[in-house]
Amino acid sequence: MTTPEVTPPTTPDPGAMALTEAQRAAISALSHDEHVIAPPVWLARRAHVPNDAVERAHAAQDPDGFWRDKARLVDWMTPFETVSEIAPPNHRWFVGGKLNAAVNCIDRHVASERRLKAALIWVGEDGEEHSYTYNRLYREVNRFGNALRKLGVGKGDRVVIYMPLVPEGIVTMLACARIGAIHSVVFAGIGTQALRSRVEDCGAKVVVCSDYTFRRGKKIALKPTVDEAVRDLYTVEHVIVHRRGSRPGDAPYTFESEREHDFYDVQDGRSIHCEPEPMDAEDPLFILYTSGTTGRPKGVVHATGGYLVGTTYLSRAFFQITDRDIYWSTSDIGWIVGHSFIVYGPLSVGATIFCREGVPDYPTPAVTWELCERFGVDLMFTAPTAVRMWMSHGAEVPAGYDLRKLRLIACAGEPLNPEAHHWAQAHLVGQSNGMVVDNWWQTEIAGPVLGTLPTFEARPGKVGKPIPGADVAVVDASGAPVPDGQGGLLVVRRPLPYMLRTVWGDHARYEHYWRQIPGMYTAGDIAVRDADGWFAVLGRADDVMNVAGHRIGTADVEGSLLRHSAVAESAVIGLPDPVKGERIKAFVVVKAGVPEGPALIASLRDHVRQDLGPIATPSEIELRKTLPKTRSGKIVRRYLKAVELGQDPGDLSTLAD
Ligand code: AMP
Repeated sequence: MTTPEVTPPTTPDPGAMALTEAQRAAISALSHDEHVIAPPVWLARRAHVPNDAVERAHAAQDPDGFWRDKARLVDWMTPFETVSEIAPPNHRWFVGGKLNAAVNCIDRHVASERRLKAALIWVGEDGEEHSYTYNRLYREVNRFGNALRKLGVGKGDRVVIYMPLVPEGIVTMLACARIGAIHSVVFAGIGTQALRSRVEDCGAKVVVCSDYTFRRGKKIALKPTVDEAVRDLYTVEHVIVHRRGSRPGDAPYTFESEREHDFYDVQDGRSIHCEPEPMDAEDPLFILYTSGTTGRPKGVVHATGGYLVGTTYLSRAFFQITDRDIYWSTSDIGWIVGHSFIVYGPLSVGATIFCREGVPDYPTPAVTWELCERFGVDLMFTAPTAVRMWMSHGAEVPAGYDLRKLRLIACAGEPLNPEAHHWAQAHLVGQSNGMVVDNWWQTEIAGPVLGTLPTFEARPGKVGKPIPGADVAVVDASGAPVPDGQGGLLVVRRPLPYMLRTVWGDHARYEHYWRQIPGMYTAGDIAVRDADGWFAVLGRADDVMNVAGHRIGTADVEGSLLRHSAVAESAVIGLPDPVKGERIKAFVVVKAGVPEGPALIASLRDHVRQDLGPIATPSEIELRKTLPKTRSGKIVRRYLKAVELGQDPGDLSTLAD
């Protein structure tokens, strides 16, 4: 990335505590009287954690004993000696233990009566359908693991995966895990510059991509983005292309260089056994890039042991997934939800995962419910933005399908507004008398930390309580707990096994999470806790936007705009959006002599789309002569946002003009 790094402050930023008007209004609107949703008795009765208070007390009194119990959910090649070694910001878990994530997700089921059950059912946007039993998944993963080894990939090497939600993407992730290579999935929708910066940052030896993806009936080429991104990156030794079969009208396919291979041609059809690499519990399993506030990619590193114990425990305890369920997460392998709760957690518990490529309202708004009925989906994980989209099409759509099996819908990624929560409760899980549960977490923390368990009531507008094992609080900038009912910073006070260990290549940047408020992990969100211990998460405290559940740094979009030859300065803010949660608005000052007009705006939008991908593309761009700045030259986005929202911009004494 060309954007210079901004050194993050190491002292608490008092400005971070300044709540916006909207957050203040949200706090005063939170009430839980007649709006609570009681848990259905039948669901509470079959919950994995029958009494969360007992679990929470156990975790508080004997955290190591609690996690030692949970570690029994996974198979170890060498037992660990010590449960935890904690000296924040650093923490190590299951020290001395060795395991392999792919073995836990596949081999142990192949060795059981689950061998011939479906591990994965995949449906394409056009209705194409494939099923993989655990037995087949074992063979596919091992074949590709052997192929990677033959190309010289080994333990600790980085493999970037730029593939849509296709079985080959999941196979690639698990093949990397099997041979100890560190995968880094980059959402196949992210643009050239964003992909390049990630490949460069992690020093990937191999890039595995699909040649195209489908979205809303359109065939979208991915390979040209990869070609452009890695053209002169010579650290990339191999590009492996998953060619999705030729379709009418396809041009004959030729590889561009000798480092390119076909996904299936590199495999030896008969090499179906691949020795799993014994991984130290603390060895990295994957790197996943997320948005920070500096415009530089932030490679969150998750460690094998703690991650697998955490996601296995949470798949059962929170998402209620069992090996008798068909579970559908509408996310994508490009996001943390896709890692934890499409691939690793649900496969570790032996469930059948249902995956569909494409958006949940195409070709018709009914497609999701049609598929739930057809396959008998039991559990779903989705995002508030999807619920609001379904809501906009009306309750008669899901009512037209048999959803009596669908007993639980978990929602995460952004605040689930009460209207959407009540609507989903009535119309999506109403037929089964099931439950909608909110949960809060982030890329850095690979599974729920706050959430509503089916053993206690849901309070729409509030996420829930700390998950047993998590010590969470709302504090002020000095780390002191704020009184109940008052907004503050959301912090995790004790490391969890499923939290990140470092930021790839930049441990100081990792330490910043624990140094903003010394000894606590600051999540970057504003939250409020009520007198009964329920939390509501109101939004970000930093310069990160949440667009349809995706975190996008204002700095990323600003940096991209600055790379356009016409742009002198730019500022980006998130504005409320009824469906996406937030939408992006950009303010741009153009260089002298550049003609302004609709053609320029279109060119700026195309540029960002190409650079970062469609989700980071501003929905509105305003050309201006100047931007509001402090005397030290910092752009005051807070001012731009307040003006847009018709609110009081607050203290402007530091503004230069
Ligand atoms: P990501 O790392 O991209 O998954 O984004 C994590 C961020 O999404 C969090 O820091 C929150 O700002 C937001 N978020 C995730 N889940 C929730 C939720 N249930 N309620 C409110 N905000 C959420």
